[in-house]
Amino acid sequence: MAFMQNSTPNLTQNPTPIPVTRPWISDLEIEYVNDAIRHGWGPRCYEYILRFEKALAAYQGTRHALATSSCTGAIQLAFAAIGLAPGDEVIVPESTWVASIAPIVHLGATPVFVDVLPDTWCMDLAQAAAAITPRTKAIMPVHVYGNLAPMQALKTLAEQNGLYLIEDAAEALGSVYHGQKAGSIGDIGVFSFHGTKSISTGEGGALVTSNSELFARISVLADHGRVPSEKRLFFPHEVGYKFKMSNLQAAMGCAQLERAETIVEAKRRVFQAYQTALADLPLRMNPEPAGERNAYWMSTVVFEGEQPPDRDALMQALKAEAIDSRPFFYPLTALPMFEAQPEHRVAYDLSPRGLNLPSYPELTDTDLLRVCSVLRQALQLS
Ligand SMILES: *Cc1c(COP(=O)(O)O)cnc(C)c1O
Repeated sequence: MAFMQNSTPNLTQNPTPIPVTRPWISDLEIEYVNDAIRHGWGPRCYEYILRFEKALAAYQGTRHALATSSCTGAIQLAFAAIGLAPGDEVIVPESTWVASIAPIVHLGATPVFVDVLPDTWCMDLAQAAAAITPRTKAIMPVHVYGNLAPMQALKTLAEQNGLYLIEDAAEALGSVYHGQKAGSIGDIGVFSFHGTKSISTGEGGALVTSNSELFARISVLADHGRVPSEKRLFFPHEVGYKFKMSNLQAAMGCAQLERAETIVEAKRRVFQAYQTALADLPLRMNPEPAGERNAYWMSTVVFEGEQPPDRDALMQALKAEAIDSRPFFYPLTALPMFEAQPEHRVAYDLSPRGLNLPSYPELTDTDLLRVCSVLRQALQLS
């Protein structure tokens, strides 16, 4: 590919906007959604939902899957199902989206933040181990940008301490950890199908588990507390939740899931193009250690050195050429509602150095060339 070091981009007056992400829609999605909107009512109103859940469980290699209205809803259900209550603690990484931890707070429990590792940007195992107290109920690693947390060691740690392992795989559908799909390794795994995620239903999420007891509990909680053995209609046994995915969304999800491997391969092609084109620059990108497959939800660059370039200025320069990008996650404890923990040096250091580049599957070689050229030019200026 012609990613020349000094190639100048073909800057036009009104360059075509390049968003940071967008779902890849084929005729299949349109066909299924059309079918759902025409026929998916009455006796067929759950057809695509059930099919989607079955397909997701098969893809993940788990016994059960539940489609939800969002990943945030799936996380809420997961923590409610394990009985998370005020006084309990959950160990979580600093570098993630706030959705990972909001349900913990809503249930009155306490998120205990730990630092991330400089290479994977995922939960630091040693810090997670050190953070365990008698109040700890669960550990929640997050596979940030598709990168994988050290699952085998975390699983052992959780088992040795009698803790639940809840895997936030919202950003890692299609990532594989030593033969196991991300999200299928912990007690419960959660996914997001938000419009920005690799596989999308517009808004949506899911939860997977192979623990049938937990799944039975989750199913009751997710259905407003209605128990399967109760024959009376409208007779819940407790106050539950409702985070259901619609049949229309599930129809889109079924098509996306059938095409999941194609989509992941396209994301990998995008990442590899960036990696090759930017290889000479002082930056790191998402890692892919031996034995793992990274589904690269976001092709991410982290600038090295004592004085990294001004990340926000870079974003502005890209924006000026109609190229969208995203900053690396702020450490959650840097947000106003938490107490700052700058001793989590890795997460605090990564944040101003990191940038998500446009990462959607349909990016063309020309688009990729344009992004890299503009980035290079901006780096010379900054
Ligand atoms: C997107 C995301 C979520 C939340 O997903 P929603 O479907 O928007 O609720 C949770 N965790 C992580 C890590 C995410 O990236």
